[in-house]
Amino acid sequence: MKTEKSKQLFEEAKKYIPGGVNSPVRAFKSVGGDPLFIKKGLGSKFWDVDGNEYIDYIGSWGPHLFGHNPPFIIDALKSAIENGTSFGAPTEIEVEMAKLITELVPSVEMVRMVNSGTEATMSTVRAARGYTGKEKFIKFEGCYHGHADYFLIKAGSGALTLGVPTSPGVTKGNAADTLLADYNDIASIKKLISSNKNEIAAVIIEPIAGNMGVVKVKDKFIKELRAICDEEKIVLIFDEVMTGFRVAAGGAQEILGIKPDLSTYGKIIGGGLPVGAFGGKREIMEKIAPSGPVYQAGTLSGNPLAMAAGYAALKYIKNNPGIYNELEEKSAFLENGFNENLKAVGKNYAMNRVGSMMCMFFTENLVDDFKSAVKSDTSLYGKYFHEMLNRGIYLAPAQFEALFVSTAHSKEDLDKTIRAHKESLERM
Ligand SMILES: *Cc1c(COP(=O)(O)O)cnc(C)c1O
Repeated sequence: MKTEKSKQLFEEAKKYIPGGVNSPVRAFKSVGGDPLFIKKGLGSKFWDVDGNEYIDYIGSWGPHLFGHNPPFIIDALKSAIENGTSFGAPTEIEVEMAKLITELVPSVEMVRMVNSGTEATMSTVRAARGYTGKEKFIKFEGCYHGHADYFLIKAGSGALTLGVPTSPGVTKGNAADTLLADYNDIASIKKLISSNKNEIAAVIIEPIAGNMGVVKVKDKFIKELRAICDEEKIVLIFDEVMTGFRVAAGGAQEILGIKPDLSTYGKIIGGGLPVGAFGGKREIMEKIAPSGPVYQAGTLSGNPLAMAAGYAALKYIKNNPGIYNELEEKSAFLENGFNENLKAVGKNYAMNRVGSMMCMFFTENLVDDFKSAVKSDTSLYGKYFHEMLNRGIYLAPAQFEALFVSTAHSKEDLDKTIRAHKESLERM
């Protein structure tokens, strides 16, 4: 595989951009080697600047539910751009977008658009604090909620793979109000609540975790968590930045049958443009400025191009409910193929999947929380990643990330991927 142009660009990039990338996990640090610079994408595939073709299973880290450049999103963008790129005044499509979100997600009665998942999660914690008058909140070890200071404490995703689960630059003061619980462990929640009586504003959780690899939440755990939050008047926040519109039109909360008080969105909701959103109970959302005192704002929030792309994506989802069965079938096919291969090579690696989010952990233990996830052999993952890459399969360059299947992945793509998986395992 020729990668000279990528190498050259990376050398140049490192002179001007920290680590040569604008988001850390892109840099291949945890798998070794240099990142590839991508030139264009179409459907299930993308091409790097040296002309190599890959079947893409990152989908821009989640947004591309329909693969790259689906015509209905590109058309929506083309017609929106004719009218201008930003006004800083309300537009009709923001109303349509908000209506559509509340239709698809019943727990969301009102919604505010922002520009990233990070902004969405930050804003929900502020809203919960403003609403309850309490200051502390609980997050779970291994869950990632973006890069706001008080979330970067035992966070997942890039923070986890780079070995900086708690980042320098986060003050003690900031960390003091973040309480840490264990995923799928209700006892850890009860303990924190009893030792911080009437001080906890919110619990934020990835209702299906995707940033310590994919870890399913247990039904009993999430039901108990909902009940405890009701009893203690704690705002339950589902961070659906990854799972929203990915695992079902109504997100993880639809699958789990649990209504959170607030939810956060990003990734798919922007149709590939930088968008986030948060919403939930009217009573809480009305505390947000200008209807209430909790300040939250954004120069480009509800941007017309971002709304055009996001609205096209959500409208497609609404009009084509069958895509979730299609995604389930494709993803199950891939998972079965992987499991057959594992059997053939005598390995029993943990394979976790919820719909089109999947993760193969390089550990033979059951993975159901952070501690079991980090038992994975990340150096083996690095080898596997490069074996797959050499066979034209682009996976996340880090163990603790999800593999995303899109509607654009064809049977042929999946067959090729399963063959590459088998050869890769045999070579390791
Ligand atoms: C990606 C992600 C975020 C952060 O979103 P950005 O748009 O990268 O700021 C937050 N929470 C979860 C669950 C995510 O997967």
